[in-house]
Amino acid sequence: MGATQNAPDTSRSQFILIGMFAGMILGAACGFLFGERMSVVGWMGTLFLNSLKMIIVPLIISSMIVGITQLGDVRKIGSTGIKTLVYYLATTSIAVLIGIILVNIIRPGAGVDVTAVQPAQVIAAHDEGVLLHIIMSVIPPNLFKAMADMEILPLIFFSLLFGGVLTTMGKRSEPVIEFFVIVNEAVMKIIHLIMLFAPLGVFGLVAGKFADVGGGSAFMQELLKLGKYTLTVLSGLTIHSVIILPLILSLFARRSVRTYVANMASALTTAFSTGSSSATLPVTMECVEEKNGVSPLASGFVLPLGATINMDGTSLYEAVAALFIAQAYGIDLSLTQQVIIFLTSTLAGIGAAAIPQAGLVTMTIVLQAVNLPLEGIATILAIDWFLDRCRTTVNVWGDAVGAAVIGNTKELRQPE
Ligand code: ASP
Repeated sequence: MGATQNAPDTSRSQFILIGMFAGMILGAACGFLFGERMSVVGWMGTLFLNSLKMIIVPLIISSMIVGITQLGDVRKIGSTGIKTLVYYLATTSIAVLIGIILVNIIRPGAGVDVTAVQPAQVIAAHDEGVLLHIIMSVIPPNLFKAMADMEILPLIFFSLLFGGVLTTMGKRSEPVIEFFVIVNEAVMKIIHLIMLFAPLGVFGLVAGKFADVGGGSAFMQELLKLGKYTLTVLSGLTIHSVIILPLILSLFARRSVRTYVANMASALTTAFSTGSSSATLPVTMECVEEKNGVSPLASGFVLPLGATINMDGTSLYEAVAALFIAQAYGIDLSLTQQVIIFLTSTLAGIGAAAIPQAGLVTMTIVLQAVNLPLEGIATILAIDWFLDRCRTTVNVWGDAVGAAVIGNTKELRQPE
């Protein structure tokens, strides 16, 4: 596929990146200082977000179909799929473990006042089994409804099936495959166009969010109230993203961490600004494929799936938050209960939708599993929007590292 043909010229993408950083810093500064008055620029963020969302459905369908049909042999899907799942599970488990260790050392919940919790704010509990829910959501009864609702798993399933079947049809399927190759190139070009607007979009998103939460002083108040908790989550996210994932990247993908992360910067900035792995997906794919040169096969396969089910940051945060709530309520958890938290947090990350603050909803799974009070969620609600953005950035970074690792396996390695 003409990935390199599409590569935007470096000076333009550097210009955009600098603009995005400036947009983020200026947005935070203006939102911090001027608070609610900055809601006047919120529309710029919404416009950027909507244009990213607009392109997700054609992007997933075309990149998945192109990826699968280029695999050559449909049987390779099986082993690539297994390796991808092993990567997801291994990295997510490491993240959760880091969270559990830190929360036991720092004990951020000890002494926190939970009497001010308002039960009205509590999020409804999950009734159905989460695993069954995930399995059932893979096959859509109506593909177009799944597209309209932007449900990514059914789209991935259909595209894999469609691409897989095309590979068994010999020469006759070539025009259809070529069609999707061109659709994929066109979609990438649209993403380049959308990125021209990214600096303003990021500015609008960040300033608009600070406006929503009442500006800098309101934010600082919440931050200080939950300072130790925030510190625990952020330390965990930092250890995972600055030590563990880079180690995996250099050991298993044999890549320079510095170059790889520098090329991912616009995706990571977008993740922080939008708080949504799925909205960031177009930018993640652009960075991974075009800037980092990971084979479109690997990125087309690993990234859409990863955006939906591989959430290292979210799972880490779920574990920290659950143990924080237990500490705040003075509930001592046994080792077995902590193991249950470890397992359910991993599951809750898989089950969380790739949209802002979805982790807060799946946290009920973790709390219910060890009988912790659901109203405990209200204690961490105020600061969640900020932590959501941080964990989303780590989620996207984990996906990007995964694409490089899987791209370096023998099935997907591109000929030199
Ligand atoms: N916002 C996160 C994401 O899209 C999910 C979450 O942790 O709430 O990756």
